[in-house]
Amino acid sequence: MSRFFSKKYTALQPYIPGEQPKDMRYIKLNTNESPFPPPKSVVKAVREQSLKCNLYSDPTCGALVEKAAQIYGVKKTQILPTNGSDEILNFAFMAFCDKDTPAVFADITYGFYSVFADLHGVPYRTIPLKDDFSIDYRDYCGVNATVFIANPNAPTGLALSKPEIEEIIRSNPNNVVVIDEAYVDFGGESCVDLIEKYDNLLVTQTFSKSRSLAGARLGFGFANEQLLADLNAIKYSTNPYNVNRMTMEAGREALCQQAYFDKKCKEICNTRAFTADRLTRLGFTVLNSKTNFLFIKSRKIGGKELYEKLKEKGVLVRHFNGERISEFNRVTIGTKKQMEAFLFCVEQILKEKENEKSK
Ligand SMILES: *Cc1c(COP(=O)(O)O)cnc(C)c1O
Repeated sequence: MSRFFSKKYTALQPYIPGEQPKDMRYIKLNTNESPFPPPKSVVKAVREQSLKCNLYSDPTCGALVEKAAQIYGVKKTQILPTNGSDEILNFAFMAFCDKDTPAVFADITYGFYSVFADLHGVPYRTIPLKDDFSIDYRDYCGVNATVFIANPNAPTGLALSKPEIEEIIRSNPNNVVVIDEAYVDFGGESCVDLIEKYDNLLVTQTFSKSRSLAGARLGFGFANEQLLADLNAIKYSTNPYNVNRMTMEAGREALCQQAYFDKKCKEICNTRAFTADRLTRLGFTVLNSKTNFLFIKSRKIGGKELYEKLKEKGVLVRHFNGERISEFNRVTIGTKKQMEAFLFCVEQILKEKENEKSK
């Protein structure tokens, strides 16, 4: 830290992204990306836009918003594209939280919520998940704070039903409820259509997980016009050109290729079921995931040890040091082939562990 760093940031603990080591080729199951490349037409759109890089992008993202409105069945005035969904979440903390309006979120959830709260000096309260790692929606009813819920949640993979989410929104009429739907395309129920009914609802989505565009950085906020105006005020006060022209066209073209992504999501869900079944038979606890990852724990080997041994064998998964979750690993669902390789390594590691014991 330099002696010039603003005092207001000295206690900041930045978000730690999943590792991207370059020492060898890993099977990468640690950051919930899609294992599938984007369709060729998306690549072509990026290439064409790159020729016009001398010109600023459209700050209103007109063409992208028009297509998105069609696909999601909302008004063009109800969508705000951002630089990944992390950016819309950041905007939400800036726009809808302050000293008098704290934030609430689960004790085990997306790590960025607390980072954003700290960054903006927003007080926050965490609500413990139940012992089975599920969220009790009643804990979020009438809380007098801005609510942030990842649905499905990460890293647990568990989802709340739409009626439960609706009850949270209904019971907090004087506070904004932010529903982070980063993983909704893998089996969750979207609440985007509820933005017509509730003026306090912001739904966020991303192209990073189900649409093969993690490296392009594109997300959406969906909300009524008044909330969106607030979020736009923040956007135009930070970075009016927050979505670059390559990404904008990649996103628009991706929305035109919905069938491709639907098929890939189905494939991921099938591979998820296959992997969960095999792990269960190997004695793992596997939470009921509605996402493109599994949250798993073994009785035979510790969470950190399994993570380390998998890494030695060239498979990267995500291990969190958190209090109740340190025995777990979060494993992204890759291709069937990648998951077979992962399972092979897990079996080997468990065998080695048995042999150690019987020595
Ligand atoms: C991955 C993720 C995001 C953000 O992803 P972006 O790449 O910034 O769009 C947001 N919320 C959750 C719960 C996530 O897992």
